[in-house]
Amino acid sequence: MGIAKGKRALIVGVANDKSLAWQIAQELHSQGAEIALTYQGEALEKRVRPLAAQIEADVVGELDVTNDSQIEAVFANLKQKWGGLDMLAHAVAFAEREDLRDRFLNVSRVNFSRSLEISAYSLVALARAAEPLMEVRGGGSVVALSYIGAVRAVPNYNVMGVAKAALEACVRYLAIDLGPKNIRVNAISAGPARTLSSSAISGFHTMVHEVEQRSPLRRGMKTEEAGKMAAAILSDLASGVTGQTIYADVGYSIVGF
Ligand code: NAP
Repeated sequence: MGIAKGKRALIVGVANDKSLAWQIAQELHSQGAEIALTYQGEALEKRVRPLAAQIEADVVGELDVTNDSQIEAVFANLKQKWGGLDMLAHAVAFAEREDLRDRFLNVSRVNFSRSLEISAYSLVALARAAEPLMEVRGGGSVVALSYIGAVRAVPNYNVMGVAKAALEACVRYLAIDLGPKNIRVNAISAGPARTLSSSAISGFHTMVHEVEQRSPLRRGMKTEEAGKMAAAILSDLASGVTGQTIYADVGYSIVGF
C-alpha cells in the first residue's frame, strides 16, 4: 500500500533523468499513483517519452507554461483521460544565463518579467486550470519547488531569488483561495542539486560545497530526497498542511554561521 495509491498526478518540469520533477514522478509512481507528464518542445519530448515509459506514465502534451492554449489543451486531455486530478507538481523555472551571474542590479525589465512569468505566475495559471479537476475529486494537492534564495540573498541567484519569493507568496495566496475546496498548496524549498537548470547558475559548485560543509547532516541533498518530500506533501499524509514552504535541504537553512 503506497501513500499515493489510487491518486492521479500531473508532473510539470521533466527535462531529463536529473530533473527534480523526474524524482517526484518516480516516487509518486512507486507509491501507487498514476502519472501524467508534459514536455516543453520537440527536443525534450524525445527525452521525456522514454522516461514516461519507465513508470507507465502518459505524456499528455506539450506544455510551455507561457502558452495558455497549451495549458488548456493539457487539462482538457486530463479531463478526458481521468475525469479529475488529485496532485499537481510544478517544477519549472527560468532565468537567462546572463542573469545568474554578477550583479542583480543589471537585470533588464524584459528578463525580469520573463523569469517571474515562467517561474512564479505559471503556478497560478496551472492551479487555476487544475481547480475544476480537483474539485470533482473532492480536493487535491499542489506542490511547487523553491530555494532558500527566496528569503536570503544568495550570490548569483539574483532574479531567480526574486522569482522564488514571488512563488512562495503565490503558494500562500493560492492556499487561501483553494482551501475551501479542500485543495492544498505548498512549496518544498530544496537544497542545491545538480540539474540542467542549476548548471546555469554561476558558482553553483560553491553552493553545493557550502551545504556539504555546514549543513547539520554534513552532506549535500540527494535529488531523490526532494522527490520523497514532494510526494509526502502531495499525499493525504499531509492533509492538514497548506500554504507552507517546507525545507528539504539537509537542514542548511537553520544554520546561523
Ligand atoms: P530542470 O531539470 O532543468 O527542470 C526545470 C524545468 O523547467 C525544465 O524541464 C525546463 O524545460 C522547464 N521550463 C523552463 N521554462 C519553461 C516553460 N516556459 N514552460 C515549461 N517548462 C519550462 O531543473 P530542476 O533543478 O529539476 O528544476 C526544477 C525546479 O526545482 C525549478 O523550479 C527549480 O528552480 C527548483 N529547484 C531546483 C534546485 C536545484 O538545485 N536544482 C533547488 C531548489 C529548487 P527546458 O529545459 O525546456 O527549459
